Amino acid sequence: MRCIFLDRDGTICLDKTYNNKIEDLEIIGWNRLIYNLHRIKRLGFYIIVISNQGGVSLGYSTEQDVIKFNDELNRKLNYTIDDFFFCPHAKTDNCDCRKPKTGLIELALKKYKINTELSWFIGDKAIDIETGKNIGAKTILVLTGHGRNELKNSDPDFVVEDINQALLIIEKITTETNKDIEIIYGRSNGIKLQGVIDNRLKGKYSKMFEKIKIDSNDVEGFFIDHSLPVDFIIGTREN
Ligand SMILES: [Mg+2]
Ligand SMILES: [Zn+2]
Repeated sequence: MRCIFLDRDGTICLDKTYNNKIEDLEIIGWNRLIYNLHRIKRLGFYIIVISNQGGVSLGYSTEQDVIKFNDELNRKLNYTIDDFFFCPHAKTDNCDCRKPKTGLIELALKKYKINTELSWFIGDKAIDIETGKNIGAKTILVLTGHGRNELKNSDPDFVVEDINQALLIIEKITTETNKDIEIIYGRSNGIKLQGVIDNRLKGKYSKMFEKIKIDSNDVEGFFIDHSLPVDFIIGTREN
């Protein structure tokens, strides 16, 4: 599947460096963001946060603080974020996971089936854009957080006002250029299902395919691999 990798501070919420205090959590464009995240997930995207939290190494917050903050952020976003990965190290620790290094994304790639070429990285710093480029994803710089100052240091595919605008652009580009991916809604054994047609993924999962009922038609599909953000993938579409 595809993935939208998101920076956290300055992109999803206000950047209060090293903080991770729940009472200071302020989400950028909150109400529209919940709506836009739900919309984009229906196109078959994972939403995964990739964040540097050097304040942990520097003693400003603990890993538990970061996890609690992320949980609260996700609760406020209607649990639309599939996962959070963060680097607790400072720059001087010279680890493999601090952006723009790709250690955190490699962890995500082990856990989820993601095609990085169909994926995006959205962030407010040049290191976010660099991280996205390092995995071959398309990149969007937002002008919230540090975005305006970072504009001169980075070369993103798109520059937008904020995360909401970024998600709208991804939606537009995805629906215009990926004609082989469609969303299907259906019902199987009384359970409401949501899935996508994705011919590129069919081969990978062909062993798990079986006949399922979608709106009273028998179609070839499979369910349910819980590592996927949809209930099933249909692989029978003829173009
Ligand atoms: Mg940031
Ligand atoms: Zn690290």
